[in-house]
Amino acid sequence: MLTSPYCSEILLLVYSFGLNIMLFELEKSFRFEAGHVIVHHDGKCRNPHGHSYTLAVVLRSNTLIPSGPKANMVIDFNDLSNIVMPMIDQYLDHQWLNDTLESEAPTVEFIAKWIFEYLEPFLPSLYAITVFETHSSKVTYRKY
Ligand SMILES: [Zn+2]
Repeated sequence: MLTSPYCSEILLLVYSFGLNIMLFELEKSFRFEAGHVIVHHDGKCRNPHGHSYTLAVVLRSNTLIPSGPKANMVIDFNDLSNIVMPMIDQYLDHQWLNDTLESEAPTVEFIAKWIFEYLEPFLPSLYAITVFETHSSKVTYRKY
């Protein structure tokens, strides 16, 4: 597993020597509807409004589960859903994000970072969180 804090430096070193590292990158998408207001915004985001958000959870691993019913998986997609959905139900879907995320400015950047930090203890191979606020506006918060 690539869990060392020196991981990025090691990868950079490997890349600089022109070597290839093969990794599995697994991604699952979720949707939620939520309202918010950016309290001190200087434009129309200071008005209460809502979005239909899309969330992508990305895991990276260089190993697979070796045996058993989950053999050759990074994680069972159903198990990933069972970790992510309770968070969505409790804090995000049909929620007022200013209250549930405890912020006066729950921007899409803030939401992506909040989700990453919430999920990381449950998903050690978590690599990135991407949140689409609209079909053309997204933020990714990820490890380097
Ligand atoms: Zn908004």
